[in-house]
Parts: sequence; C-alpha cells; structure tokens
Amino acid sequence: MTHITCRILLILLLLSSFPGLSAAGETSDVFWVYTKDRYNRAILDNPIEVPEGRDPYQFLAEYKNYPDYFVRKEGDVTYLAEKADTGVVPILCLHKISREEDYALTPDRFRKLLGYIDSNGWYLVSDLQYLHGDFSRVPTGYKPIVMGSDDASHGTLIYQTRGDRQYGTVKRLFGKPLIDKDSMVAILERYVKREEGRINFTFYVSFDGIPFRQLDGFDNPGFPYRGVPVIAEKIKYLDENFIIGIHSQSHPYVWDLGIKGFAEDIMKGWEQLDEYAGGEAKSLHTMAYPYGVRSFNLDLRNALSSLNRNGKYLDGAFDFDNKLAPPPGFPGDSFDVSRFNVDNKHWDRLMRTLDGADAVTTRREIIWEVDTKRLPRSRYSLGASPTDEILVLVRGVSGSPE
Ligand SMILES: [Zn+2]
Repeated sequence: MTHITCRILLILLLLSSFPGLSAAGETSDVFWVYTKDRYNRAILDNPIEVPEGRDPYQFLAEYKNYPDYFVRKEGDVTYLAEKADTGVVPILCLHKISREEDYALTPDRFRKLLGYIDSNGWYLVSDLQYLHGDFSRVPTGYKPIVMGSDDASHGTLIYQTRGDRQYGTVKRLFGKPLIDKDSMVAILERYVKREEGRINFTFYVSFDGIPFRQLDGFDNPGFPYRGVPVIAEKIKYLDENFIIGIHSQSHPYVWDLGIKGFAEDIMKGWEQLDEYAGGEAKSLHTMAYPYGVRSFNLDLRNALSSLNRNGKYLDGAFDFDNKLAPPPGFPGDSFDVSRFNVDNKHWDRLMRTLDGADAVTTRREIIWEVDTKRLPRSRYSLGASPTDEILVLVRGVSGSPE
C-alpha cells in the first residue's frame, strides 16, 4: 500500500469511529475531556455522547451522579456545579471587633480565622450563592463557607479620627477616609481575594445604635440615625465592595413584636438602607433576625417573603442558633437558615467545629462550548483551578436537512 492510501484508510477509520457522527450523518452533542497524553501534550479524550434530544448539561449532571446541579454560563464557558445533598455549610456570624468576651473577636483572631479558612481548603461564598446553591465559582474539592457580621457595631468599619472615635472628624487623604487597619473591613481587604470585584462577606445593618459607631463631627440625630453623611459613605462603600443585608431598624426580637410589627421593622430597615445607599442597596438580598428566630413558622415566612421594594423580594433570612447549615441539595427553609456564633468566648469551640465539620465538598465541571472539536487555549483561559475538570462540548447539528 502506498503512503497516501494508508492515510486515506486511516481517515476513513477515524471518521467511522468518530462519536457524534451517526450512520445517517447526523451529529449529536459530545463532551470531550480536556486532558494530557503521555507526552504531557494537551488532548481531547474520553468522549461522552449525549443521547439525542437530551439537554447536555442535565445529562452530564446525571452522568456525574450529581443529586442536583446549578448551571452558570459566562460567554461560551459553562460552569456545572453539584448541589450536594449531604454535608454541612458553616455560616459564621460575627459582631464586634474588640477584646470583649461575648459577641466580639479580637483583630488578631479575625486574621487567624481568615488565614485558617484560606489554608484549610475553605472557600468564601456569599449568603445569596448559598441560598441559590450556586457553588459554580468554587473550585472542585473546596469547602464552601459563608461569613458576615451583625449590627454594624464597634470595629466593623472604622475610619481614623481626630480626637474621639465616635464624635471626632475622620482623617482623610485627598478626600478619601483613612481606614483603621484593625477594623473588620480592613482585615478582610487585606486577607480575602475579591470575586468579581467584591468580597463575599455580608454586613447586616441595624439602626438601634449609630451604624458603625461614627459620626465624623456630625450632630447625633438620635434614633433611627437618618441623614448622617459618613454613614451614607460607608453603606455605599460596603454595597459596592462587600454585601449589605437587613438586620431591622430597631433590632427587636421577632416574637416580642409579633409577625406584623416585626415585618414592618424589617421594612423600615430596608428603606433606610436603600436611602443611605443612594436609592437602592444593590447587593442587598437577605436579612438576619436580631437574636435569632427560634420558633419559626409559615406565617412568619409568608410575611417576610412577601416584603418587597420596587419589585425586589428577599431571597432568605438567617437565624442565630449555633448550628451549621444544610447542604444546598437538601435545604431547609430559606427563611430559617442556621448561623454559627463567632466570638472570643467560644473561639476554641469554633475551631473544633470547623475542623470536625462534615463539610460539603464541591464538584464542578468547566465546559467550553464549540461548534467543531478543538483544544482550548489553556485551562487558565477558562477560569479553571488545578483541581477542576474541563470538558469541551461539541454541539452537533441535530435532525436531518430538509
Ligand atoms: Zn443583632
């Protein structure tokens, strides 16, 4: 046989064994695994054929034995993430940054906690991502964890001042306030990576005290602390760089006010946050119950889930019950989500709990969707971490030509 005949035969052989090309010449969708050959060269291998008429992502989730899944598309890249139905997700609730024993954490411990999270396979997700079961940004093998702080209390977002910390004027450089390096925001900005321009940490603000405990020389207007410029400046900053949540206006315990009164107080807190944010706090999607909720019921859920401003509704509400939250594939009620208390007094318990937690460990597939089979430029170009599996989805033309 001549060299050329040999080559033609090889091509014919390849064509006949090409998955996705059926006998009739119709093609279906095929996933190819992006991997390395034994010479460490990038190749596409191990094809997974999608049965005719099936949604490829739904099929892939089944193929991978995901109990449930979340799909996020970004241009021609799709992230398919598992919604696990076993394991727990820790949702940590902080309050002040100070040396007090209860409801406070020292700046050093807060740094230590963030360092521990970073070096022990945890990955900070937002409260909203948790509620949606959207772990599509978490690399395979990491453990999602949620964090936030309640009350806009001492040490959360503190600017340096001349004189008294609460009443003194804020020190500025070219108009920009100088932030206290021991405040929660400064520590987060130093130790946590941003995700799409934002740090996944929610500040649940209430108005029973001066939010963030600073007035920048402004006269104290008294409860509910409306119209203070430095509070507006801070809320806008957090809305753009972190996440804002509702923690009511007057910080009542829900069952002291009853459902109607409590829902009104939540609404007032929401209005005030929107006002301070300059019209609408865009990052706001959730609330946290002051002192927790204890006996949750459906009437309360109905009242809170029907609250809305300009067509926007809340996605969920967070409790304060010292439990770890359920996995997104087997969720409880989204308006009664467990959070775990973090403070100096219970520091050891926190570390023990995180160490021993049967945490949800994520799995995701990164899929590059193309018309013809080809190699992606690199794993990095698809936003993959070393632990992620990458697939190339070649979309076939289904049906025969008319
Ligand atoms: Zn509170």
